[in-house]
Amino acid sequence: MSLSVKEILNIGRRHLEESGVADAAIDCKLLYCYLMNVTTAQLILEYQKILPDSLCDEYFKLLELRGSGVPLQHITGFQEFMGLNFMVNDKVLIPRQDTETLVEDAMELIQGNTLRGEAFLRKGKKDWEILDLCCGSGAIGLSLAKLCRNVRVWCSDLSEDALSVAKENAAGLGLSKITFQQGNLLEPFQKRFRHRKFDLIISNPPYIKSSVIPTLQREVRDHEPMMALDGGESGLDFYREIISRAADCLKKEGVLMFEIGHDQREDVCGLLEETGKFFNITSLQDLAKRDRIVVAVLKGKKEQQ
Ligand code: GLN
Repeated sequence: MSLSVKEILNIGRRHLEESGVADAAIDCKLLYCYLMNVTTAQLILEYQKILPDSLCDEYFKLLELRGSGVPLQHITGFQEFMGLNFMVNDKVLIPRQDTETLVEDAMELIQGNTLRGEAFLRKGKKDWEILDLCCGSGAIGLSLAKLCRNVRVWCSDLSEDALSVAKENAAGLGLSKITFQQGNLLEPFQKRFRHRKFDLIISNPPYIKSSVIPTLQREVRDHEPMMALDGGESGLDFYREIISRAADCLKKEGVLMFEIGHDQREDVCGLLEETGKFFNITSLQDLAKRDRIVVAVLKGKKEQQ
């Protein structure tokens, strides 16, 4: 066959395009980089190289997989998030770029008690005990643990399989002081169990409406864990449940911080208002100017209605 790298990439791009892969031009290169263990920068220098038939065959196998709808990250086993490498598989949601906005805002709050440049807490906090609720791969909690010095992090999830991935990621990032907790949302931290209060509860819970699930991209719908995506009929099941119990698990002026779907701002803010227990209920947008984050602070006991 004797194909050059450039030729084989063209074949790859065409195959992926014809198979309906959205990012065909990028994915054909990233599959090659994965196969040959080179960076995208090194790849450019290899365009004229002739590839042995055995490697061509291996590349075609990867193309078939990707073309059939398997997400790139399930083939390579990794996703970069906040500049860190996260191992992923089909038991966890692949960390999204949108969620980096959530982590960046949380970092600003943790490091300087401000949010998008504005003072946010009445009394600043120095050290933060943080719970990443519905942690999945651990992308949010582990990034905060890795990138901030003044934090102690708990990661919790209902799924044991997800926690195994998060544990592996913690080890990969050299983080030895993370506490992992299996359980249903805030239940394991509530009064009747091991009572623990946090300075920040941060969560990207499942928030897609059940009726929307069949319309998702096949990569998401057929390969990512439904339990990380399906937020029930209204998409709000998890927000409702977490918000109803959060006051019990937050310290004084504890912060609750959610990723939300772009059309959920009013609903999630409304749920927080209804409790009468939160102030500074704020929403923030992502880089594409879509509503993406809701933050709120727990009132003092006497101020709570
Ligand atoms: N943003 C994700 C998606 O579009 C959903 C994440 C979630 O449900 N928490 O697939």
